[in-house]
Amino acid sequence: MSFNTLGLSEDILKAINKKGYTEPSPIQSKAIPPILEGRDVLASAQTGTGKTAGFTLPVLQILSQKQQLRQRPVRALVLTPTRELAAQVYANVKEYSEFLDLRSAVIFGGVNQKPQVATLRQGVDILVATPGRLIDLCNQNILSLSKVSIFVLDEADRMLDMGFLRDIERVIKMMPAKRQNLMFSATFSQDIKKLAHGILNKPVQVDATPENSTVDAINQKMYRVANGKKTDLIIKLISDGNWKQVLVFTRTKHGANKLCKKMVSAGISAAAIHGNKSQGARTKALAGFKNGSIRILVATDIAARGLDIPLLPHVINFELPNISEDYVHRIGRTGRAGASGEAISLVSADETTYLRDIEKLVGLKIPQEILEGFEPDPNASTEPKKQGGGGRNQRPQRTAPKSESSSKKTKPSSDRSGRNRR
Ligand code: AMP
Repeated sequence: MSFNTLGLSEDILKAINKKGYTEPSPIQSKAIPPILEGRDVLASAQTGTGKTAGFTLPVLQILSQKQQLRQRPVRALVLTPTRELAAQVYANVKEYSEFLDLRSAVIFGGVNQKPQVATLRQGVDILVATPGRLIDLCNQNILSLSKVSIFVLDEADRMLDMGFLRDIERVIKMMPAKRQNLMFSATFSQDIKKLAHGILNKPVQVDATPENSTVDAINQKMYRVANGKKTDLIIKLISDGNWKQVLVFTRTKHGANKLCKKMVSAGISAAAIHGNKSQGARTKALAGFKNGSIRILVATDIAARGLDIPLLPHVINFELPNISEDYVHRIGRTGRAGASGEAISLVSADETTYLRDIEKLVGLKIPQEILEGFEPDPNASTEPKKQGGGGRNQRPQRTAPKSESSSKKTKPSSDRSGRNRR
């Protein structure tokens, strides 16, 4: 299939061509036609499937065909759970709209609002935003959503995980009732289905990934290992394999920092990315990782969500996530755009319950290996580790009480996850 058959305008095709895309990804060929028809869409797609272009391209087309309003009120709103994802979606919007007379902007917390306000005052057709700052600016009457005709809820599952349900409801109340709605989610829990039911009007359902299953192209394996030997094992795997670009997941911010330091001491360039890092530090780490000056990016789930890093060859779970769906999100970072990838998990005895839950979710027994010198401790307890203090390693907690907007001042260091272990 070619992009030419989807009904996109010459100016949009030109931008696609400039990006070097030769054909639409499955989610794009399935989602673009109904969106162009003005239908509501519920799409199952993870990061890496090309979902951003899947909604951005038709939204741009629709807006560019409608008459421009003199004051340029926001006509399309894309809501994303994290700042990084907002920035990436915005970068895509900019690129795809290069040859169109449309203005776009991105707003998120953790940075000074002044430049964002200045941009908004000039008029913006497409706004990409995280909920907290968006609501703040609306409450200050700096921004109005009363002319929004297309609403995109990106990574809806993560929105709920991060406790943004109330904020989503608030945002919806600020928009006209008559509008087109597009909702993207990697997983479909009952909560997501309920949210979709409340927002979408007779949606067309499109699937790019089977429900809660992992992409076939990903080669999954795990090493059973003693907890105290994980750091040495990961360093050995990376060094022996001479891996150049590895995304490593830890469960906690503290764990990410600690591992990062150990990597650096072992002579492996690494950076950590998590909720306590300033926006600048995160952007710098991501840029270094993309340009190859940083080999290892150690991340927590929330921070890694939506990062646009194409063709990642290796993802390592230094610790298993205690929420099984996060495993699917994590390993979805490899095997992108049809390339094969490898997802490796280091599993200690106390993570046995998490492993069982994950295998149940993905419907697969993940092949195990044990490396000589890194054998698991046969006497170690299989009980999930209690670490006290922040309720770490508790069983999954799907909703969070505190969101970005509920803390009026959004500090760069604020951890917007309700799951206090991030
Ligand atoms: P996304 O799932 O939107 O985060 O996109 C994942 C990656 O795929 C991004 O780097 C996009 O630039 C890239 N991409 C999106 N659409 C296509 C396409 N049709 N062909 C090749 N790459 C694409």
